Amino acid sequence: MSRFWNKKINEAKPYVAGEQPKPGQKVIKLNTNENPFRPSPDCSEAVKNFDMGQLRLYPDTDSVMVCEAIAEAEGVLPSNVFVGNGSDEVLALCFQTFFEKEGNTDLPVLTPEFSYSFYPVFERFYDIRSRKIPLREGLRIEAEDYVGVPNCGIVIANPNAPTSRAISLEDIRKILEANKDSVVIIDEAYAYFAEPYETAVTLLEDHPNLCVVRTLSKSYSLAGLRTGYAIASEELIEGLKRCRDSFNSYPLGRLEQVIAAAAVRDQAYHSWTRQEIIKNRIYTVEALESLGFDMPESSANFVFARPPKCISAQKLYKNLKAKGILVRYFDTEGINDRLRITIGTREQMEQLIAQVSKEVEDAKAGSDNTQD
Ligand SMILES: *Cc1c(COP(=O)(O)O)cnc(C)c1O
Repeated sequence: MSRFWNKKINEAKPYVAGEQPKPGQKVIKLNTNENPFRPSPDCSEAVKNFDMGQLRLYPDTDSVMVCEAIAEAEGVLPSNVFVGNGSDEVLALCFQTFFEKEGNTDLPVLTPEFSYSFYPVFERFYDIRSRKIPLREGLRIEAEDYVGVPNCGIVIANPNAPTSRAISLEDIRKILEANKDSVVIIDEAYAYFAEPYETAVTLLEDHPNLCVVRTLSKSYSLAGLRTGYAIASEELIEGLKRCRDSFNSYPLGRLEQVIAAAAVRDQAYHSWTRQEIIKNRIYTVEALESLGFDMPESSANFVFARPPKCISAQKLYKNLKAKGILVRYFDTEGINDRLRITIGTREQMEQLIAQVSKEVEDAKAGSDNTQD
């Protein structure tokens, strides 16, 4: 609290990111769903060829170079693409642009009860009512639950975080059809890790109320670059640009634009990292299940695993951290019996499994002792 801050900032509840180790600290970092592989070698090449003299000049406000690369990769027109400083910024602009429309002070934005924890931060900060839709058995999103519920907008992460579960395009179509007067945001931060790959971008043609938000942070290994984007009808893209140009018309610098475009153009490398992570996920799920863990089917680059009864999620989180392995634990009722574990390299996952196996054995031995 500060007397120098206005009411809104005094009352804000900012997003808390997963911890970042200090430079030089040696940890196995499986807590913020970053990609363990380097970005495309084409990014280094692009930086090498970059003329620093260009930084004298303001960048292109629309990041057209990046929009064109994305449009080609996604099979849409550049005019259907909006680029921002990370998808967090794109989402923030979406909340401001599409929700709590003029004349509406009552209707809530609908989000799944357990989802990306930035959504409630935006709702609070932009004074938008919210209604959390409970998940069904097995942390599943049910499309029917988003039909016939009055709202000013809907946001669904697909695959959902932190649950890792995906819903089908048929379900998304059902939600779009039932909510034609609202913008429906599908946050596809993890969509490239689903097998088989599918995207709501294919529904764009029939649905002017659809806004698909994606990022280069996860599948393109560029969390540190800060580039995200939206794909939507020109009408929605135009709205986002109006909002952007009302506070910062240059979200991406010239160097960022060059790097982002190079990464998106290297689809061969992108597919390779994607396949590696899917393979490592299969290995991790099998290994955890054989240790007594249980988890929903993951379509993301993380799993949301419940440890066997002998050890609590919180205890396991702490013990792993003491051994230099960071995973994510949410102290939130309903999901505090699980750990969200990012899929890293095979070597990292083997080290994780070795340590988890030891923790489970120790816990079993411990509880046997107390029973004696
Ligand atoms: C990681 C993540 C984002 C944020 O991505 P940035 O582009 O790095 O801001 C958005 N949505 C979900 C669901 C995420 O997990």
